[in-house]
Amino acid sequence: MTPHASDSALYRTLLESTRAIPWKIDWATATFSYIGPQIEDLLGWAPTSWRTVQDWAERMHPDDRERVVNFCITQSQCGVDHEADYRALTARGDYVWIRDVVHVVRDLQGGVVALVGFMFDITERKQNEEKLLQLQQELEDLSFRDGLTGVANRRKFDAVLAREWQDARRNARPLSLLMFDVDFFKRYNDQYGHVEGDECLRRVARALERAAHRPQDCLARYGGEEFVLLLPGSDAPAARAVAQRCMQEISGAGIAHAGSPLGEQLTVSVGIGTIIPGAHDEPMPFLDEVDRRLYRAKHGGRNRIEDAALA
Ligand code: GH3
Ligand code: MG
Ligand code: MG
Repeated sequence: MTPHASDSALYRTLLESTRAIPWKIDWATATFSYIGPQIEDLLGWAPTSWRTVQDWAERMHPDDRERVVNFCITQSQCGVDHEADYRALTARGDYVWIRDVVHVVRDLQGGVVALVGFMFDITERKQNEEKLLQLQQELEDLSFRDGLTGVANRRKFDAVLAREWQDARRNARPLSLLMFDVDFFKRYNDQYGHVEGDECLRRVARALERAAHRPQDCLARYGGEEFVLLLPGSDAPAARAVAQRCMQEISGAGIAHAGSPLGEQLTVSVGIGTIIPGAHDEPMPFLDEVDRRLYRAKHGGRNRIEDAALA
């Protein structure tokens, strides 16, 4: 055996025993001149079935095909080595994530002669990446949610308000805000204990959720026993109707509050504001105004809705 022949046998053994799948494409004819036999283990397609670049493109997930094929062709035409991740179709009909690492072989004049590369099975890595992304998403969702009641927290509310404010301003649409405060909640805690108090807040949150179910409505816990409900696109009469529904839902929940001077049941007070934000309006003064109305509802006797500015 000549040294040369033995080298080539060695290289072939090396190439065909690695987990990376080697291949070579002749640029002029766009055909495979070689593909490692490992491809059959991975995808189920025999090496002989890989004839043209077309075969490669057709065995790619339709959502990846255009992006990957265009990218690889452009890079190859420019003579640039590159990598691409895509889902390759298996003979079973499912997909395997592949990372294709491509080297462009050029002649002395710089013309592209061939492409050689390795395909790597990166399914596991992709699955881990997806799991990580999903976890990140869950974490982000959690960071925007109130731990006790599960509704949006103040951080989320601030973000939604800023967004909806811009939107209402741009489209000259009304934006309504309801602010709720549980009546005599300190006495509730004193009488039933803090754990029952927590459960009570959860029940209040559920009741308010039932009253505002459009996807754009944002119910948030604003503070201890205070909730806010943002109603994009709702004018004053619509906001008042929602506030009345909220009161009904809370009353319907029948949460006993024996220590309340207003009766035997838990009640809330509500302040409402509606605005079509002008160019110079800011959310803060609007929030303050709604808060003042809530305060007036308290001073007017509680268990009521206050929605008009004092004359
Ligand atoms: P008002 O009708 O004027 O609103 O009276 P109030 O007693 O509801 O108001 P105050 O602000 O005096 O008391 C609010 C109470 O809410 C005091 C606080 O202990 C309680 N609270 C705040 N956050 C929580 C919570 O997360 N869990 C429980 N159980 N109680 C809370
Ligand atoms: Mg309060
Ligand atoms: Mg209160």
